[in-house]
Amino acid sequence: MITEKLQKAINEQITAEMWSANLYLAMSFYMEKEGYTGCAHWLKKQWMEENEHACAMAGYILRRGGKATVNKIDVVPDSFGTPLECFKQVYEHECRVSKMIDELVDVAAAEKDKATQDFLWGFVREQVEEEATAAGIVDMLTKAGEYGVMYVDSKLGAR
Ligand code: MG
Repeated sequence: MITEKLQKAINEQITAEMWSANLYLAMSFYMEKEGYTGCAHWLKKQWMEENEHACAMAGYILRRGGKATVNKIDVVPDSFGTPLECFKQVYEHECRVSKMIDELVDVAAAEKDKATQDFLWGFVREQVEEEATAAGIVDMLTKAGEYGVMYVDSKLGAR
């Protein structure tokens, strides 16, 4: 059985994951309108991944005998600048998510809940990948410059 405090903290993270999903969907729509269909495709995949994170966390709460909830999701921005500016925001956002997951591990540790800590390590590892992937795209777009952006866009379209 999961503790009340931990259930609340994970449910808050579910809301954060869904906010992330909405952020990436908004970025995808924006990039599509700007003509960067590869970026839009990549971001839409990311949107799906964030929804999966939310569902995985809900599934975990339920398996531990708790109650998973869907809370109100705050509005997300609607403009993200150039692809480079957009992916810099992706990177910064993923760094913030990593911090949230770390804090969740701290709550699980304080509650002496080993199973939840074990479950969350998967997300700690996932965040290492998320940060590295976003940083890699920022790096590619920086090197590509204004004239190479469509090349990177086509690469992102292959995700
Ligand atoms: Mg996530």
